[in-house]
Amino acid sequence: MALEDFRRDQERCSECNSCKWIPFDQIKSQRFAIGCPSIAYNNFTGYSARGRFAIGLALNEGRIDLYSDKLQEIVFKCLTCGNCDVAHKVCRYDVEPLDHILEMRKTLTGAGQVLLEHMIYIDHLRKEDNMMLEPKAKRGDWAKGLDVKIATDEPCEVIYHAGCRFSFDEELWPSARSAATILKNAGVDVGIMGKDEACCGSRVHSMGFEGEYRKFAENAIDAWKTQGVKTVVTSCSDCYYAFNRLYPRLGAHFEVLHTVQYLERLIKEGKIKFGKSIPMKVTYHDPCHLGRQGESYVPWDGVAKKIKGQINLFNPPKPRYTGARGVYDAPRNVLKSIPGIELVEMERIREYAWCCGAGGGVRMAYPEFSGWTAAERIEEAKSTGAEAIVTTCGHCERNFLDAVETAGEKMKVLDVVQLVEQTM
Ligand code: SF4
Ligand code: SF4
Repeated sequence: MALEDFRRDQERCSECNSCKWIPFDQIKSQRFAIGCPSIAYNNFTGYSARGRFAIGLALNEGRIDLYSDKLQEIVFKCLTCGNCDVAHKVCRYDVEPLDHILEMRKTLTGAGQVLLEHMIYIDHLRKEDNMMLEPKAKRGDWAKGLDVKIATDEPCEVIYHAGCRFSFDEELWPSARSAATILKNAGVDVGIMGKDEACCGSRVHSMGFEGEYRKFAENAIDAWKTQGVKTVVTSCSDCYYAFNRLYPRLGAHFEVLHTVQYLERLIKEGKIKFGKSIPMKVTYHDPCHLGRQGESYVPWDGVAKKIKGQINLFNPPKPRYTGARGVYDAPRNVLKSIPGIELVEMERIREYAWCCGAGGGVRMAYPEFSGWTAAERIEEAKSTGAEAIVTTCGHCERNFLDAVETAGEKMKVLDVVQLVEQTM
């Protein structure tokens, strides 16, 4: 696609501003009523889905210059969290705010309008296959001493993909180690790619680098096919989104599960037995790419038609990604099954959850905005009285850990899988 293909969407934005807020019937307080971190932080309409439609239209009509620093900032100072997309689709199903933002990014990167801060990571990715500025050779270190199969040496049905964040962020290694160990001990035929694992490409996709994304996606699909992999499991919501929503467009047909979905399955099958109680009040943060963007890909090859110059129809009807069918219940069911855990909910949850602030290349290019977004979520978590914010994504965990440290907060930041392992 090209930005020109979004002209119909751009023209159909009615400037209602709903994309700035969580849906009005979901608002519980003024304090936590906004859904879009970009508009909340920048306080100017250009930094919303609405504003980006207006700017995209101006670009298509040649009314503004593609080569401006301000345009670059507006396009990239967005977390690609998709909250606008969900809010917009409460009433409007035939316009795609998030896809439009992603297309603007592709347009800019294609024209060389890239952020220098992003290029540091892109250059590293091209050389070392990861977005963490770490040498490729260290990729499998997180699993040292685990006695888990290496998929390139022996076949396995299930591949556990740690992802860049869990592979290189040593503070988060326990989560990846717990996940692989629990799967193995439950009798799952699981293996890892170790040092041969590479970035899933999800992050570069959201930053507008389509060529890099495709290269990593196609390599992973080929490797898993060669090894006879049937199921891919990951603890990272970004990787889950790539495998579940993006890779099928390239012909991938693997079962894709987030670790927390596999844990829920093992608990139901009686393969995970809980021992000691963990008396703790926790609140759960829905990662954007597991929640509202966690809906599975549905193929569609149809045409758009305009009836009477006004009504848009799709033949056959287009799949609707409203966020409602994301992965919300599995993490909550796992938490509720842990003895002693009391789950209390924040105001913005499930498809209306506030973003952690790490997505879309924002943490790399705009760390203050990224940290502010995470701090907002910690405030919301604190308002529940919980002593821990629990999530299921390394990127969310890292951003929350940093926000808690910066603010000197006492809030614990945990992964669901850590709590499961503690109680076994
Ligand atoms: S993008 Fe959608 S929700 Fe936002 S102003 Fe336009 S029509 Fe309204
Ligand atoms: S993707 Fe998120 S940050 Fe970007 S405009 Fe939409 S709600 Fe705002």
